[in-house]
Parts: sequence; C-alpha cells; structure tokens
Amino acid sequence: VSAAGAAATTAVAAAPIITATSVKVNVSMPEAAARAAATGADGVGLLRIEHLIIGMNKTPGWYIKNNKEEEFISELYNGIKTVLDAFRGKPVWVRTIDSPTDEFRNMAGGENEPDEHNPMLGFRGIRRDLRQIDQLRIQAACFKRLWDAGYDNLGIMFPLVQHPREFIAAKEAFRSWGIDVDNRVLGIMVEVPASAIIIDEFIKAGINFCSFGTNDLVQYTLAVDRNNGLIGDMYEPEHPAVMRLIASCIEQCREAGVECSICGQAGSDPKFVKWLVNQGIASVSSNIDAIQKIRETVAKTERQILLNAALKKN
Ligand code: PEP
Ligand code: MG
Repeated sequence: VSAAGAAATTAVAAAPIITATSVKVNVSMPEAAARAAATGADGVGLLRIEHLIIGMNKTPGWYIKNNKEEEFISELYNGIKTVLDAFRGKPVWVRTIDSPTDEFRNMAGGENEPDEHNPMLGFRGIRRDLRQIDQLRIQAACFKRLWDAGYDNLGIMFPLVQHPREFIAAKEAFRSWGIDVDNRVLGIMVEVPASAIIIDEFIKAGINFCSFGTNDLVQYTLAVDRNNGLIGDMYEPEHPAVMRLIASCIEQCREAGVECSICGQAGSDPKFVKWLVNQGIASVSSNIDAIQKIRETVAKTERQILLNAALKKN
C-alpha cells in the first residue's frame, strides 16, 4: 500500500462540534485547567477561587492582619494564571470569593470569622467584600496584575449580588485602585431572585454579562435549602417560578446585547440546557464531565430551531 493509500484508510478524527451558543466549562481548581481545556470548551464560565484559598489554609483576613498581602496576591495570581494560560484567547470569568463564614472557620484567622445563625444568607459574596473592602482590594490587586500582564481574557464575576448598587460600588472600588473598569469585562451571578427580577436595572448599571447560579437561585426562589435532604424532592430547577425568572432574564439580556449564561448545576443537565437554548441563552457553562453531552445537546437543539424556522417559512 502506498503512503497515500495508507493515509486514506486512517480513521479521520471527528470534526469538532461548532455551536452558535458558547459551551464553556466550570473550573474549581487550577490542577483541572488542562483537563478542562482539553474538552475544547469555548472558555471558562465560572472559575471558583474558594478551593484555592481554602488550600492556602489562611483566611484573606489573616493575610491582611499580618501584613502578608503580597503572599495572598501571588498565590492567587499563580492559580488563576494557570487557568488563563490553558484558555488563551478564550474568556475566563473568575468569581470573587464566595465562601460562607463557616467554611473559613478551621483556617488560620478563622477564629475571627463571625458566628452566624445562617451563613448561606449572611456574610458572603459581594456583600462581605464591600463590608471588608480590604478583602476585595487584595483580590483586585491580583486581577490588575493579570490584566497588566496582558491577560485580556480575564473577566470578573461578582457573586450573591442583589442590588445594582453593589455592582456599582464594586466597580467604583476597582476604579479607585487604578483599574480601567470601562475596558474590562465585569459581570454578576444571578442567584438571588431580586437580581433576576430587576435585571433591567443591572443592564442599565453596565454589567457586561450575567450568569445564572441556579444552585442558589433555586434555593432562594423556592425557600428550599440546597443541602437539606429532608426536602430534596422540593429542590426543583424546573419549578415554573424559577423558569419564568430565567426566561425573562434571557430575553432582556438578549434584547440589550448582554451575554447571559448559566454556571449552576442545571447547566450540566441536557434537558434543562435544551430549554435554555430554546429561550435564546447566549452561553452555558458545564462541569468538565458533562461538556461533550452538553455540546451535542446544544448543537441538536440549534439544528431543530433552524429546521422549525425553515419549515415554518415554507
Ligand atoms: C450557584 O449558586 O449555582 C453557583 C454556581 O455557585 P455555588 O454553587 O458556588 O454557590
Ligand atoms: Mg452560588
């Protein structure tokens, strides 16, 4: 057999599936960056940094109190950089710290964490960062260093936002630390029903994107603790109230040209993703192991939408 003949009989690798809806991946640890990038995902729709910080074994407050901010900034920098390097040229949305206080309790500095009756509804996410502004400042210092190093694919996502003034305050704080916020990508998690209900106000406030954190959005919309097995059967992403909130957000974002995405667990569920694509969501972000199935689901749903439109025309 000639060389050409041998080549002709070699199996051809399947063509990558191209979709109009971006299919991104969720990453929780820098160690998973290479595996996440190997899926061919269109970017990172959620980079959680809590594991990185818990791995440092000291609370952000400890670094601030002990004048060791540089140590915190460079550890966070290296962790995020690993993911940005694996996704060069693709967007990576890093979420600011979202640990509830009880998760910080066993670390150095954890003795200073407030004791809360209900940490999930308390001192976490953007609300904590705005009240302990130094905690936001040291994260921002790390982001600024990455932007200054040329990582333009870095976007920042603020968690547990419930009013546009929180987004505006965070943006103003970034500006006061010398960050050119007008040329950077900043967005919010939509995981509190309030922010879904007034998404138009967030659009006016200048968000560049939003992403449904359905893990929390479901628990807060339905008043069902996401970690309480006693009422696990009531934890329903497909509850009509949740779906109505999501559908309305997608529509308003689509009209305003703001990227609307999902990074909660429902974004790894093919049935839910099929519905989201039919609503016109711009991107979805799934767990690493779900990416292939989700990409197939998105492609199939898009084909069906096109086909339905063509048949209707004829
Ligand atoms: C969510 O709430 O859906 C989410 C992605 O955030 P976390 O699960 O980290 O609260
Ligand atoms: Mg959440």
